[in-house]
Amino acid sequence: MQLSSRITGLLGGGSDGWGVFLRARQMIAKGTAVTELTIGEHDIRTAAPILQDMHRAAMDGHTGYASVPGTPGLRDAVAQRVQDRTGVKTTRDNVVITPGGQAALFAAHAATTNPGDTALFIDPYYATYPGTIRGVSAIPKAIPAHAKDAFQPRASEIAAAAAGAKSLLINSPNNPTGVVYTRDTLDGIAQVCKDNGLWLISDEVYDTQVWNGTHLSPRALPDMAERTLVVGSMSKSHAMTGSRCGWIVGPEDAIEHLTNLATHTTYGVPGFIQDAALFALRQGTGFEDEIGAPFQRRRLLAQDIIAQQNAVSLVPADGAMYLMLDIRSTGLSGEAFAYALLDAHHIAVMPGESFGKAAAGHIRVAMTIDDARFAQALQTLCEFAKTRAK
Ligand code: PLP
Repeated sequence: MQLSSRITGLLGGGSDGWGVFLRARQMIAKGTAVTELTIGEHDIRTAAPILQDMHRAAMDGHTGYASVPGTPGLRDAVAQRVQDRTGVKTTRDNVVITPGGQAALFAAHAATTNPGDTALFIDPYYATYPGTIRGVSAIPKAIPAHAKDAFQPRASEIAAAAAGAKSLLINSPNNPTGVVYTRDTLDGIAQVCKDNGLWLISDEVYDTQVWNGTHLSPRALPDMAERTLVVGSMSKSHAMTGSRCGWIVGPEDAIEHLTNLATHTTYGVPGFIQDAALFALRQGTGFEDEIGAPFQRRRLLAQDIIAQQNAVSLVPADGAMYLMLDIRSTGLSGEAFAYALLDAHHIAVMPGESFGKAAAGHIRVAMTIDDARFAQALQTLCEFAKTRAK
């Protein structure tokens, strides 16, 4: 029986970019010790008090169908958090709770594009973006950001691609580059969206992980709240990746339709998970800082190590849990470098090419192992690059 082209074409026919990761996992399965700097997940688990609250909520009976757009308490807390961070009036009617940021990305594209419409996104990109867009039968169109611009996208290039498109997906702080978009970049993006009637889908799942500068949500820019859907999540800010709890913040009518979509797809998020998410949000920004602190520490370690050599250079690492390293001095592609590093030193990193064409000649290093092993691995990586540098 034939399956839909929507499903069979989801990956777009190319490599999915996970080859190095899979080889590392095979090596581990055969007993080789591999230092994994691949996946964007904390090296700590969800904090015990959050799990205890989840347990309490489940034992209290919050195990039935939960309110589809989210529990009033969690929607209120997300609205308050967003209002505090942006200054834009936000109520529970602007919030729908989703099973993680990924489901929010899918729903946001379902809400803003019709089949066959073009949906824009910035390259380098989080690996699921093109597939998410194909999943709603829209056509993904990548707009490159350039290494020479420190991967800040140019409004002029977005404008040149915007005719006929319905949406633009951006991500700041950025995975994979660690770049935080400047006010100028965001002003330019906002203007292009207004000039071309685009929805802006703003993926802000790393909004608590900013090491330099400040996070600015484009929803706070003039006349942008009415055309912006903000994607948020508990995954990265509260080390709750497995709980699958995120949200979309947007205009009330969009949220009403997104609630209808949730009724016909996910039927909401389990109540005990939402209760635990509410408990976690109530721990305040101090707790969020604690979750981000290891990445901030390792970023400083990395800056020191990288400053002592010149085979590898660091893209300004202003946010998120990743470093993007330029290894073009070796003459290798990111992919060839990553395979060679894995074979020679059993260190696994992601090739830049896994995140689009614009990050060719780069590698992404996740700062997700303990400080001492991280520093040692980065040192080895730099020495390896030096042996290959032309
Ligand atoms: N957006 C970005 C940029 C990500 O890096 C991730 C996960 O790595 C997600 C969205 C999805 O996160 P989740 O579905 O866990 O909220």
